[in-house]
Amino acid sequence: MTLKTDVLVLGGGLAGLSTAYHLRRAGFKGSVTVAEKSHKPGGRAGTERQGKFLFDHTGHLLHLHDPYGKKLVLDLLKGNVALHERSSWIHSSGVDTRYPFQANTHGLPPKVVAECLAGFARNLYRPRALPKDPSFRAWCLAAFGEGISRRFMFPYNEKLWRTPLDWLTTEWQGRFLPRPRPEEVLYGALVDQKRFFGYNAHFRYPKRGGCQALPDALARRVPELRLNCRVENVDLAERVADIDGLGEVRYERLVNTLPLKTFLDLASPLPAAVREARSRLRWVDVLNLNVGVGRAGLSDRHWVYFPEAAYPFYRVGFTSNFASDMAPKGTTSMYIEVSRRPGEPADLPALERRCIEGLRRSGIMRSSDKVVEKLWIPIECGYVVYDRERTPAVNAIQKHLRGRGVWSIGRWGAWKYSFMEETLLDGKRCAEELLGRFGKERRSNEPLLALK
Ligand SMILES: Cc1cc2nc3c(=O)[nH]c(=O)nc-3n(C[C@H](O)[C@H](O)[C@H](O)COP(=O)(O)OP(=O)(O)OC[C@H]3O[C@@H](n4cnc5c(N)ncnc54)[C@H](O)[C@@H]3O)c2cc1C
Repeated sequence: MTLKTDVLVLGGGLAGLSTAYHLRRAGFKGSVTVAEKSHKPGGRAGTERQGKFLFDHTGHLLHLHDPYGKKLVLDLLKGNVALHERSSWIHSSGVDTRYPFQANTHGLPPKVVAECLAGFARNLYRPRALPKDPSFRAWCLAAFGEGISRRFMFPYNEKLWRTPLDWLTTEWQGRFLPRPRPEEVLYGALVDQKRFFGYNAHFRYPKRGGCQALPDALARRVPELRLNCRVENVDLAERVADIDGLGEVRYERLVNTLPLKTFLDLASPLPAAVREARSRLRWVDVLNLNVGVGRAGLSDRHWVYFPEAAYPFYRVGFTSNFASDMAPKGTTSMYIEVSRRPGEPADLPALERRCIEGLRRSGIMRSSDKVVEKLWIPIECGYVVYDRERTPAVNAIQKHLRGRGVWSIGRWGAWKYSFMEETLLDGKRCAEELLGRFGKERRSNEPLLALK
């Protein structure tokens, strides 16, 4: 039997849940179905239980900037949330300095501080000319100078993006990369300035249940969520999806929150131009090793960046410092993030040994520390690569999909670099657009949907 639904949402992560929730909240009376392949909601904002530990898919901290987004999250979590003052650091040249590197070179070896300041100062009296659409590499040199770029910006971003920095654009970094004023750069070289820079000086985190508490709370308001339902393929011309667990589902509008490249691989028919645009999408996978260590208080930090190639990971965070129920008493829990090009072979046992060795060398772990629990979480498409192909390709794909009644949203559906609050707002915006579209159709007397 074929199931008929007005709106079919693919994926029960925050984007999909938020779309369904906001459709109902706005009074939509048509039918909605949310198909999620997993046994639980939340996607990448979920939490896995391993023994007595709770492990998120790397660190998932709540950065709330939008008044509505903040209200929504706080309403959903109903007091199950704590506010934290960020403690984030950078480990380089054998020492830890405060984040962001460019504003906090105090504590680095004097030679390194001098190199960073000299490059920054040189830029002040002889600013570099930048083309209209500079590469990320050129932008770093113009914004921070040679020293800061070579000591942090280049090695860190090469390690994360695994892409030549000349190929990257600057579209993604606006809010993610703080630009301190010259006096702040100079002051931060002289003293340990405890000032906060950047978009995430504070963050919130659930007191109980890990990040999963957020999608769980939202899912309780989305009765249309169907778990254990994997989308197998989508016929865009007939507007029919094959979903393991639901069978054939006929829809009027489709909301995709699967990674755009995955969705396109399941969808047909696609014109050659869209298939070609799909082939231009680039990403990196994140291999996330979570470990529980049998000693409390390994670090008082929230997370530490590792720019140097000597360490296989680009970031390490301490989940047990976010909430006490993440790890049993007398232990510490950590997430370790390693970036990989898609298809690049990964020998996980060997990588794990290198990660533990790196943690010992950095001073985080002692040689006597024992790993009492571990969980690898591979994150396919962890970061979308913003090279020069990305935006034209995404625009061409989205234009085509919209013409077929498909909204592709969320961090991976829209193929972008974003965070959870933005994802929730994407779902709200999508619901509003769907309602507007259905409203117009009703005015043209198409008796499709029963709007309030
Ligand atoms: C390494 C890393 C760190 C991050 N840190 C933070 C942070 O600290 N703070 C923050 O705010 N954000 C963070 N984010 C971003 C955050 O994870 C996303 O913004 C958010 O989870 C995106 O939700 P989504 O619904 O768009 O995608 P997803 O969570 O991926 O949801 C898509 C859903 O589709 C499902 N699905 C996939 N294939 C199928 C199929 N064939 N059939 C049915 N269902 C399917 C998946 O199971 C998933 O549930 C981080 C992301 C990464 C990768």
